[in-house]
Amino acid sequence: MLEIKNLHVKLEEEDKQILKGVNLTVEAGKVHAIMGPNGSGKSTLSYVLSGRDGYEVTEGSATLLGEEILDMEPEERAAAGLFLAFQYPVEIPGVGNMTFLRTAVNAQRKARGEEEMSSTDFLKTIRAKAAELKIDADMLKRPVNVGFSGGEKKRNEILQMAMLEPKMCILDETDSGLDVDAMKLVSDGVNALRDEGRGFLVITHYQRLLDHIKPDVVHIMADGRIIKTGGPELALEVETNGYADLIAEEA
Ligand code: ADP
Ligand code: MG
Ligand code: MG
Repeated sequence: MLEIKNLHVKLEEEDKQILKGVNLTVEAGKVHAIMGPNGSGKSTLSYVLSGRDGYEVTEGSATLLGEEILDMEPEERAAAGLFLAFQYPVEIPGVGNMTFLRTAVNAQRKARGEEEMSSTDFLKTIRAKAAELKIDADMLKRPVNVGFSGGEKKRNEILQMAMLEPKMCILDETDSGLDVDAMKLVSDGVNALRDEGRGFLVITHYQRLLDHIKPDVVHIMADGRIIKTGGPELALEVETNGYADLIAEEA
């Protein structure tokens, strides 16, 4: 589904190398988790995959279903089936949540050569999915994320993901700032989207999210590289012992 090879990334503005040869393959139907200390480059990886400005790829590639995405515009990446839920979801004043979602869904359908969703179908679908995430009608009418609490923003990200039905979902610290109930809602929302034809990359600081979204594979990232890959037990090991031993082992 997603294949990242030898990815090197530096900041555009300064001569600072952030990603130093990331290799990672996420298969369809699998959930991969990335854990790692603060500043190891996890968010940078998600930003670069989404096509955010300010980063320069100096080496390596990233393909989605065999297609190079690093040359694509952000909207082309989305049309190709990539979705990112960010650590800090953006607010879009003046644009209603529902309008935004409808436009996004139809733009994506168009890019895939599919017909627009009818208003009736759209309303039916969004109401059902919003209800599952405990997002009320009022939140659907308000401007995107404006004045939403941290938990509401994260739930709204999952609603976007559920509506867009992407092939590859990347979640960057979707658990940060969530209370236990919100984390359960978000995890249930993600788990409901698990599918044979869909891959997930879940970036998280803490093991606790992985109690709810059970990963197939866990990677540890430190200083711009994946230093260790294992099963779910690796996350538990980190929870108990921290990252220091793993980093020392690698060195
Ligand atoms: P993580 O998500 O693992 O905490 P980040 O990807 O946010 O790590 O950051 C990796 C490193 O790159 C950090 O040292 C961070 O300060 C630096 N960095 C990332 N983006 C920028 C930027 N735009 N300007 C300056 N430093 C940056
Ligand atoms: Mg961070
Ligand atoms: Mg981060």
